[in-house]
Amino acid sequence: MAKNLVVGAGFSGATIAYLIASQLNEEVIIIDKKDHIAGNSYDYRDKNGIMIHKYGSHIFHTKSEKVWSFLKQFTDFNTYMHKVVGYLDGIETHIPFNFNTLYDVFPYTLAKKLEEKLLDRFEVNSKVPILEFQKQDDDDLKFLANYVYEKIFLHYTTKQWGVSPKDVDGAVTARVPVYLSKDNRYFQDKYQGIPIEGYTKVIEKMLSHKNIKIRLKTDFKDIDTSKFDKIFYTGSIDEYFNYEFGQLPYRSVNFKFETYDKPYYQSNACVNYPCNYDFTRIHEYKYYLDDKSDKTVIAKEYSEFFELGKNERYYPIPKDENTTLYNKYLEKAKKIKNVYFLGRLGDYKYYDMDKAILRAIEVFEEINK
Ligand code: UDP
Repeated sequence: MAKNLVVGAGFSGATIAYLIASQLNEEVIIIDKKDHIAGNSYDYRDKNGIMIHKYGSHIFHTKSEKVWSFLKQFTDFNTYMHKVVGYLDGIETHIPFNFNTLYDVFPYTLAKKLEEKLLDRFEVNSKVPILEFQKQDDDDLKFLANYVYEKIFLHYTTKQWGVSPKDVDGAVTARVPVYLSKDNRYFQDKYQGIPIEGYTKVIEKMLSHKNIKIRLKTDFKDIDTSKFDKIFYTGSIDEYFNYEFGQLPYRSVNFKFETYDKPYYQSNACVNYPCNYDFTRIHEYKYYLDDKSDKTVIAKEYSEFFELGKNERYYPIPKDENTTLYNKYLEKAKKIKNVYFLGRLGDYKYYDMDKAILRAIEVFEEINK
């Protein structure tokens, strides 16, 4: 029986492991440095019965029928649709900036005038990335664009990425466009929700196949790779090559958890602080699965640089010079037979969960061509 090694037990690793074990009936050993499966989507119920997302809020959303039907084999989802509240000048309002935000933050007559100008200039329901939105020749719209840039993007992005929105790849801020709509949801994808028993359970089910063996607290460096026919590597590609060309930079995140002796701390699962404080946002976990408890657990999210041995990798930093460095590793990777790179770290791409799963399905389809 062919033997496969999967490095990393997050969504990418678990998807490829499951597909190989179930569809090819081959043996899979899946290893992870961490002492748990599920990678950064790991969640657990704490002593108050609240499902905690250890590495920050994970909200599943996808447009892909393929990914949705794949995951539905392992879980049902609730009907949670993510909304983000932000404090702009002390006003609790909606992010992304939309028509409701417009009326929350400006006096009615000004909001009405801006709304009319916006509808003259853009299609209703269109999404406009902030860096595009700033390209206005009308003075009122220019004023609005500057307001949104300053109040929503400038400080948040500086906290999150250490540089201003103009110095991060436009695709990053385009994730949260100005939305010419009254739809307050963060995502408009057809399929959205939280797995009803949490993410760890989903991955546990994916990996509970007779052909799959899990080895936690296991470093790839300690594995005799000659025993395997194929390797699927979801760790950081620079680490695989011993940082030969230098380290790929990442942002990391530090969560400060707090428990409160009251049913709720804030009005929403996720509250962004784009104007104030050192943290970017506060997560209140009980909202996701509507957990009932007299207590509540929150996490304040602080962004920092990733440093080897000090913290975890969370976000690749999309930037030309980093892509150039990644491409050097990719060129090397292409020359090795039977080793496949995937996942946020393996591909050095800012994938959401659904994109990581889709990529793993594609790698599987590729090896079976
Ligand atoms: N962003 C911002 N202000 C906000 C929310 C997002 O400036 O209130 C920018 C910021 O640069 C952030 C990016 O948009 O990194 C993408 O936000 P998203 O919520 O998609 O990030 P994630 O949830 O993946 O951390």
